[in-house]
Amino acid sequence: MTAPSVHDVVVIGGGVTGAGIARDLSLRGLSVLLLEKGDWGAGTSGASSWMIHGGPRYLEYDWDTTRLSCVDAGHIVTIARNLVYRVVFLIPVLPHDRNNIERMETAMEVYDRFQPLKHAHPHRRLTGAEARQAEPGLSPDVIAAVTMEEWGVDPHRLVYANVQDAIAHSAHAQNHTRVTELIKDGGKVIGVRYRSPDGEISEARARVVVNATGPWSPEVAGMAGVEVHLRPAKGVHLVYPHRISNFSISAESVDGRDLLMVAHAGFTLLGTTDDDFYGDLDAVEVLEDEVDYLLQGFERVFPAIRQYRPVRTTTGVRPTLFKWRRYEDELSRRYEVIDHSTHGADGFITIVGGKLSMYRLMAEETSDAVCRKLGHQAECTTASRPLPGNESDPELVHELASRCGIPALAALKLQSRHGSNAEKVLDEGRTSRILCRCEPVTEAELTYAARHEQVRSLADAFRRVGVAAGPCAGAACILRAAEVVGGVLGWSASQRFDAAREFVRGAWLGRAPVLGHSGWAQEELAQGAMRGLMAGESRL
Ligand SMILES: Cc1cc2nc3c(=O)[nH]c(=O)nc-3n(C[C@H](O)[C@H](O)[C@H](O)COP(=O)(O)OP(=O)(O)OC[C@H]3O[C@@H](n4cnc5c(N)ncnc54)[C@H](O)[C@@H]3O)c2cc1C
Repeated sequence: MTAPSVHDVVVIGGGVTGAGIARDLSLRGLSVLLLEKGDWGAGTSGASSWMIHGGPRYLEYDWDTTRLSCVDAGHIVTIARNLVYRVVFLIPVLPHDRNNIERMETAMEVYDRFQPLKHAHPHRRLTGAEARQAEPGLSPDVIAAVTMEEWGVDPHRLVYANVQDAIAHSAHAQNHTRVTELIKDGGKVIGVRYRSPDGEISEARARVVVNATGPWSPEVAGMAGVEVHLRPAKGVHLVYPHRISNFSISAESVDGRDLLMVAHAGFTLLGTTDDDFYGDLDAVEVLEDEVDYLLQGFERVFPAIRQYRPVRTTTGVRPTLFKWRRYEDELSRRYEVIDHSTHGADGFITIVGGKLSMYRLMAEETSDAVCRKLGHQAECTTASRPLPGNESDPELVHELASRCGIPALAALKLQSRHGSNAEKVLDEGRTSRILCRCEPVTEAELTYAARHEQVRSLADAFRRVGVAAGPCAGAACILRAAEVVGGVLGWSASQRFDAAREFVRGAWLGRAPVLGHSGWAQEELAQGAMRGLMAGESRL
């Protein structure tokens, strides 16, 4: 084993919270090592509803969470302008809904007071006819509706932008690196032992270790001999590879919980379930029952929903703070920064709970706690300091498309991911060839991601640049993607096939619960074609 590296702080967990903390601390001038056992944002953050929102629903029982989310959402949308877009909701009301239109409008009037904090517009009340004119797919039973505005974001890119900025300010950040042990000196935590992607075990010493592992935080806290008590709750989404409506639409499930169909940039998420979870956090499965639960609730307001074909599912586990008795969807979304020195583990801090929408604030408070421990005087700057590439200009999209000879949609997606760095990304890849036609993604962007953005597998490529995220789910591009990534990372021919196979197997697990009868036939055809292609190529 090589000699341990030495840092001010080791942050465990590369979801949005850990990445935000690593960025904050490195901007404050501390030396930071950030370790993530999978890929950046591949835990709960990537499985979220992809919204930076205030959560009007929390107004009923947790006013402060709504206020804090709105304040922090306001900061996030100004520092990550290229990554965010407006999402407009229609909230339809049916005759026997839990909330009639008067109650719903009263709630929206209260929420309107918070909307300016996150630069969003106030609600409008619509008659049933007006709502159906806006979205003809709504049920004829809808008697009225209100509108509401939130923000959408790509959480994978948001996490990565934080990692990128932390690295730019001297942090070290490694994905696919699992912390296996905490090193202690008596009661004090003085570092971590970790396994790198090549299997090598290393040690890092730090003055403070931060546990930002979301739903895994009780497990990591256990390594220090202390307890963190969560009430983890599983959430499932169905993913449609296109927009079903230009509006996001809310619905009530059979047990009265809120469901959302969120219209993102080029795809739709329908979710979410919210159920206590006691299983293995590294093997969370989607059940067909959960798919039915979502469709049943949603078809009441949008009868044609079963005619659309989802391409996959996503699932994640909320790191919700523990509370007896409450139903899962009524649990507070507050967060807690826990200094374990009071539990006999000095030098060790855990951050749990919260939301994507207030990750920056959670990172600020955790970093304040770290700085207090270290006696380090430095102000937090993340509320106003832009993330890398923070720019979104529709004019530049057309200019970029014609200058680089790529379709406008490819330029738009590239700019949404890289902002003002988009041209640099294309230039470095030196080819404007489109690799994934569904999305579309250029070979240049994938090459750049493999070279500079810690892509180590095709699933990482999916998260970093959206390769294989479209309707064909990689059938047309995954082998070429393996060539491009393998070319940069030095994979042999058999490693490239293995990588493609591994991706197809992983994607299949997410797709199986939504296949239905015609879907299975189509799936068999696609898998057969893929096997044929792989066999053909391996003979070359
Ligand atoms: C279905 C669903 C929908 C949601 N929708 C929204 C939404 O739209 N808006 C919103 O604001 N919030 C939403 N949330 C909540 C939000 O996603 C979470 O609060 C947030 O993403 C948690 O981020 P995190 O970084 O704390 O956890 P995670 O993203 O889970 O990150 C923790 C990381 O720690 C890593 N890790 C664990 N153990 C180790 C180890 N030993 N060594 C190294 N690394 C380790 C994991 O691999 C993981 O990547 C949603 C949650 C769910 C489940």
